[in-house]
This record gives sequence, structure tokens and C-alpha cells, in this order.
Amino acid sequence: MTVRPEIIAVDAAAPDADVIARAAAVIRAGGLVAMPTETVYGLAGNALEPASIARIYAAKGRPSHNPLIAHVADAAQARTLAAEWPEMARALAAKFWPGPLTLVVRRKAMVPTELTAGLDTFGARVPDHPVALALIRAAGVPLAAPSANRFTEVSPVTAAQVARGLGAAVDLILDAGHTRVGIESTVVDVSGGRPMLLRPGMITQEALEAVVGPVSRHRGVAREDAPRPAPGMVARHYAPHARVELVPIGGLRAAIDAARRADASVSVGGIVHSQTVPSGLAFARQLPDSPDGYASALYDALHDADAAGCAVLIVEAVPADASWDAIRDRLARAAHPA
Ligand code: AMP
Ligand code: MG
Repeated sequence: MTVRPEIIAVDAAAPDADVIARAAAVIRAGGLVAMPTETVYGLAGNALEPASIARIYAAKGRPSHNPLIAHVADAAQARTLAAEWPEMARALAAKFWPGPLTLVVRRKAMVPTELTAGLDTFGARVPDHPVALALIRAAGVPLAAPSANRFTEVSPVTAAQVARGLGAAVDLILDAGHTRVGIESTVVDVSGGRPMLLRPGMITQEALEAVVGPVSRHRGVAREDAPRPAPGMVARHYAPHARVELVPIGGLRAAIDAARRADASVSVGGIVHSQTVPSGLAFARQLPDSPDGYASALYDALHDADAAGCAVLIVEAVPADASWDAIRDRLARAAHPA
């Protein structure tokens, strides 16, 4: 009897061609493969095949009005799907691909509306990961690959987290170890006149503006039933089961004491970066005090807090400067009331 999901270890730098060929066969047969990218693990299926896309939505429990990103091998493949490839797209792709940047452009008719949730635009990205790139090339089709987790839960950064979250809903998991960036891609819409940042990521607004000039920022958080609720814009997203409480820098001790005064038996966890963690918590993690290091370690901490059974997770806020934007965004969503 085969145990599902099957997990195959693969060298992150030089993936075995036979393993990639097997995974590509799963994709071509309409199945789903969890693949590592540099951001988080993606749940990959044929982006041009409505039945595969339907399986992705079902496996994630994701509302079908949230568009998926097409993962392509290079800008040339993205252009085969795009009705227009504006100069802004050319410049951003040249600078940041492969990398954690998704470009939203107008789609050709061959891009199914199931992928785009009915929109005339689609998101495309070239992942900076040898395993993902090899799989896209071997499959011979663009891969829809949202994060390989149930909707609203924390994205997986390891294969074990994928298996725990999705179980038998995925046919095959390619295990290439921990992902590097650790949070989802920056999403920028270049389908209109002026570029619009839809979801902050580790490629910052400033870095985008250095290439294309002023970028407007989509402020506020869409409701789940809003007409254009791109998944990165859903308020409660990226959230652990624990109730997340964001507290000012250095403010952990006071918040722990307050939580315990409210309920002496509550299981409290803490995540800090500027100080050492107070002792006596059900879960405690000190994350790196730099944006790159923090992003890379954040989702592990959220998964581990859940595994430790925390009811309340007190998280020290991160600095206000722009280099922490994407992290602040994910923490705010994790802390958003259900
Ligand atoms: P995920 O695949 O879960 O990491 O999230 C997909 C992201 O892609 C969302 O945050 C959306 O902002 C974005 N996205 C994909 N396609 C579109 C589109 N056609 N229009 C706007 N945003 C899109
Ligand atoms: Mg996701």
C-alpha cells in the first residue's frame, strides 16, 4: 500500500532528473505536486487545465474567487500567456526574475478564467529555485502554485509542514529542505497605467520604484467577498490557530502578565527579536533582528507555536522602517481577529 502523500527528498541545488520526470508526469496526468520555491512551498498543478486548478482550490479549501499565480520558467514563457507585456513588466522581470516578484498583466484567452478567478489579468512569476524551475520545464506547462497549505493557515516552509497541513490532498511532495525567503512573493499589478503594489514582499516598494518610478500602494485589506479579493488581500490570512497579539517592541513581559491575569491557566507563547524571550512560556522563539533573517524564520515559529498548543501568541512588533514592510503585513494579518 502506498502511503499518501509520498515525500521524495531532492537536492535543492541539483535535483535528480528522474525524480523531476516523475513529478512532471504527475502534473501532466492532472495531479498535484508540492514543490519548493525560494519563498514558500507551492501546491503545483497545470495552470492551463481547469480540472487541475479545481483540484488545487479543493485541496486548499480556498474560495474560487481568489486568483492563483502562474509559475513560469522565464519571461519568454510569461509572454506567451500575456495579451500585453508592458515596458514596466519587461524592466521588472529583467531586474528581479528569477525571484520573489509576481507581475500582474493582461491575459491571453488561453489562460483559463479558473486560474484568474474571472479576471482579465493574471499573475506570473519565475521562482528562484532549481527544483521549481526544473519541474516547470519538465512539465512543459506553466504551474499554478499557491502556497501548499489550507486557506487562511500559515504557509509551509518545509515539506513536513506541507504533509501535516494537506495530507492526502497532494499526490507528491518534493522535499528540498527549508525555503530561503520564507514569506510569499511581492505582487505588483502592471496591467494599468501606474504600477500598484498589491502585496508587499521581500522585494520592497523602494526596490520596485528604483526600476519603474512611483508605485502606488494598495492600502487597506479587502473583505473576503469583495469583488477583487486577491488572496494576499484577505484580512485574516497567514494565521496560526493561536490568537496572535502584537505588542510594542520590548513590551512582551507586560503582555504575558496581562494574559495570565485574564486567565491563569492560558497557554501563552512568545516571539521576540529585540530581546531575549522571558522564561516559563509554553512556546518561546527569538527570531533574527534583520528583515531577511526574520522572514526566513517567521513561519516556522508560527507552525511551532501551533504544535506547542499555544492559545495566545504574543509577538513583539517589528521596526517601522520600509525594509520590514512585508513582515509587518504578515504579522498584522496573523493578528487579525477571525
Ligand atoms: P498565493 O498564490 O496564495 O501566494 O497568492 C496569490 C497572490 O497573487 C495574491 O496575493 C494576489 O494578490 C495575486 N494575484 C494573482 N493573480 C492576480 C490577478 N489577476 N490580479 C490581482 N492579483 C493577483
Ligand atoms: Mg497562501
